[in-house]
Amino acid sequence: MRYSEMFLPTVKETPSDAEVVSHKLMLRAGMLRKLAGGIYSYLPLGYRAIRKVENIVREEMNRAGAQEVFLPAVQPSELWKESGRWNMYGKELLRLRDRHNRDYCIGPTHEEVITALVRDEIQTYRQLPRNLYQIQTKFRDEIRPRFGIMRSREFGMKDAYSFDVDETGAEVSYRKMFDAYNKIFRRCGFNFRAVEADSGSIGGSYSHEFMVIAATGEDAMVFCSACKYAANLEKAEIARPEKVAVDESEFATLEEVYTPDVRTIEEVCEFLDVSPQEVIKTLIFLCDDKPVAALIRGDEEINEIKLKNCLGCDSIELATEDIISEVTQSPRGFAGPIGIKCDVVADYSLINMKNFVVGGNKENYHIKGCNTGRDVKIRDFADLRIMKETDTCPRCGGEINFARGIEVGHVFKLGTKYSKAMNATFLDKDGAEKHMIMGCYGIGIGRTVAACIEQNNDKDGIVWPMPIAPYHVIITPVNINDEGLSKTAEDIYRKLEEKGIEVILDDRDERAGVKFKDADLIGIPLRITIGARSLAEGKVEIKSRKSGEIEAVPVEKVEDLICQRVREELKRHRG
Ligand SMILES: [Zn+2]
Repeated sequence: MRYSEMFLPTVKETPSDAEVVSHKLMLRAGMLRKLAGGIYSYLPLGYRAIRKVENIVREEMNRAGAQEVFLPAVQPSELWKESGRWNMYGKELLRLRDRHNRDYCIGPTHEEVITALVRDEIQTYRQLPRNLYQIQTKFRDEIRPRFGIMRSREFGMKDAYSFDVDETGAEVSYRKMFDAYNKIFRRCGFNFRAVEADSGSIGGSYSHEFMVIAATGEDAMVFCSACKYAANLEKAEIARPEKVAVDESEFATLEEVYTPDVRTIEEVCEFLDVSPQEVIKTLIFLCDDKPVAALIRGDEEINEIKLKNCLGCDSIELATEDIISEVTQSPRGFAGPIGIKCDVVADYSLINMKNFVVGGNKENYHIKGCNTGRDVKIRDFADLRIMKETDTCPRCGGEINFARGIEVGHVFKLGTKYSKAMNATFLDKDGAEKHMIMGCYGIGIGRTVAACIEQNNDKDGIVWPMPIAPYHVIITPVNINDEGLSKTAEDIYRKLEEKGIEVILDDRDERAGVKFKDADLIGIPLRITIGARSLAEGKVEIKSRKSGEIEAVPVEKVEDLICQRVREELKRHRG
């Protein structure tokens, strides 16, 4: 492609409304323009990067035995009512009504559509397993779209859905996708990890997220330095501590203490001269409208996702003042587990605590000398807290590292959540009617491109890895009005194009400095510079965008060298 003919509006200044580096660089490199909040147009350079990712995804999905379909973006509400998500999904679901007053939504995801399709076409176990995928535009009406295409409302996504006859089959399908995702993100050139994750609102039993490691990532993750354990921070497990034998003779007597206006852990510690490790926080939650008290040591934080999973409820929120006074008979700030009128669950951090301080369930009172077993009835001890740097690996006890990441892919075991709700059944070998076991597997295409830029950039611009680079090579004759330079550039350009190398010829009548700046900004991996001095010696220069290394090579060898470099780089990522 000739630069002079390209629709490539690069910008010198950093756009003021862009917060993250990928968004800034995509705007500056003329890849992207905003149409409305969280809705973007891809320009040619941006769309080429998108297509590169799509093609890698397509190749690996096909290789893993999945088949491509293309489902409608507009979906009838009836299907969403069948699955129960029409009401549950809330405002992120963009709803619309047609001229016949029928309700529709723009698909934020496609479980309903695919389940209905497969339900109607598949009757027996002989037609299973199946894995169907598409690359499609989705819409989620995020309240606060930001970070460019990293968290936009309209976005391209690859979503795949597997259907199996039993758990063993579903496990095989899941594993195939897990392996395919590893290949995809390796081919994209990422430093990434597959981490154990919470299944979130899609529901289901088991999932992994694929996280690109980047300091700017929205997600916190942990990984073990000794074994393969890696998890999203919100999911990271904490091992149950061994219970140390207790000598009940060491239990202090319960003592009610007058603590006027002392409510927070800090205030309690100061007033009673104790450490947060000797105090229990009692937090009252509403779990599906039922109050539950969660106990945790004063220096720890409750992880609401763990609490929700432990209680097996659909929704969880901190209780209001009314509920608190109903179950504790006291205002906020004095809740405690002794005599409380609701179920009590406790974090593992309580297991070996002795003679601790709790709220008195009475205004302006706390109680000292409390002990579980003797004074408090606990329904369950569970892992309810957020992992800290001082914690160790739940699998091997090794040291845990914290990192930030950008989620680019997610694989879920859905089980029978949708097949039961929508009655997707098949006849098994023995003639029995059974529900299909499902899995679903997503990759954010635009987000993958953005994550790639987050991981590969410097002060001058983007540093594309070869597999996603919109073009492999840019040829820069330093002066287009010099006939010798111009002819050599045209010649190399033609030869590389013939060999299938994706190449830009910067044929603009611009100063060399301007051309170099643009080439660096748009991040093309290899630049061939053609200048008068080196050409007089029969040479041109190849510059690596990544390492900055420049080497002078004879003109007649440049074509072979470039072909070899590009192929080597693409092959290296293929592994
Ligand atoms: Zn470990």
